[in-house]
Amino acid sequence: DRRAHTYNFNAGPSALPTEVLEEVKEHLVDFQGHGLSIMEMSHRGKVYEDVHDRAISDLRELMQISDEHEVLFLQGGASLQFAMIPMNFLAKDQQAGFLLTGSWSEKAEEEARRFGKTRIAASAKEGNYQRIPNPGEIVYDAADAYLHVTSNNTIYGTQWATLPEGNGTPLVADMSSDILSRQVDVSKFAMIYAGAQKNLGPSGVTVVIAKKDFLARADRDVPTMLRYETHVKSRSLYNTPPTFGIYVLSLVLQWAKRQGSVDALARNNAEKAALIYDVIDRSEGFYRGHAAQDSRSLMNITFRLPTPELEKAFVARSVQEGFLGLAGHRSVGGCRASTYNAVPRAASVALCDLMRDFAQKNG
Ligand code: PLP
Repeated sequence: DRRAHTYNFNAGPSALPTEVLEEVKEHLVDFQGHGLSIMEMSHRGKVYEDVHDRAISDLRELMQISDEHEVLFLQGGASLQFAMIPMNFLAKDQQAGFLLTGSWSEKAEEEARRFGKTRIAASAKEGNYQRIPNPGEIVYDAADAYLHVTSNNTIYGTQWATLPEGNGTPLVADMSSDILSRQVDVSKFAMIYAGAQKNLGPSGVTVVIAKKDFLARADRDVPTMLRYETHVKSRSLYNTPPTFGIYVLSLVLQWAKRQGSVDALARNNAEKAALIYDVIDRSEGFYRGHAAQDSRSLMNITFRLPTPELEKAFVARSVQEGFLGLAGHRSVGGCRASTYNAVPRAASVALCDLMRDFAQKNG
């Protein structure tokens, strides 16, 4: 069983719970005795609709989403949301604020600039995005149509430990790489969006959680498929949704519920990350974390070794021992371990052993 000896630290698409994949396998050809695969069923039929509705209600339950918010399953990834949000909520003469904490927030801001004006409300670009701005650094402007934040910076390995306040401005958050990893107060957000492929399921589904009174502000003429209203009115069944992806997402949500609660997942995530950060901190400088201590991500742990040669050797040895995805993103270099919800504690423990041993032999 190769999988049992593989530690998947990929940044995204990333680890899915083995239990979920086993369940998919069991029902892949003959879904619950219906004689066909879920992929072959009409999205207008009761069997699929039940899966679809259950995914929405399970996400509502897990994230404690009230009726004030709509839950949508869209396509195009988080990257399409970078454009779809300003397309709907930012007119040419309006402005939106951006908290720049990494490449993904930069991309969100760049896309918004195609539709209206943008303003940097705080930036951590200086110092290569090693830190998250302090609340006091955020410059609010009541003229903003919305304020955009990236809750976790997948590439740099930083995360808002406490999410910023909107201060009266609708707060829009890209939670692609930490949704469902900790409990957030959804009521504080005008919109939360996330590509599913890290904590929620396979790629191809984008989850959008949007406040009804914020959605009501979208009065611009945009193509049907790019209007939130279209998907609200049809419960995300306007056209053929990514049915298989939503099905797997629903299984991941059921798995998450079996873990107890989002708080239980959060405790586990904090522990998995703490184990690895502890090895970094005790390595006498052999491993150097990219993120400032108070800005460390519990999802993506970024670190350097003393030389690029040692980094290469470390990654090569890790691959030999069954570790996947530890090479860092090209813009940061070094290594990155992504410890999303589905990464078991045993994988973190195994990585710590490898890191300690490698440091001892090469330090
Ligand atoms: N935002 C964040 C924080 C991400 O980590 C990613 C992908 O890794 C994206 C956006 C882009 O997501 P997608 O590939 O779904 O467009």
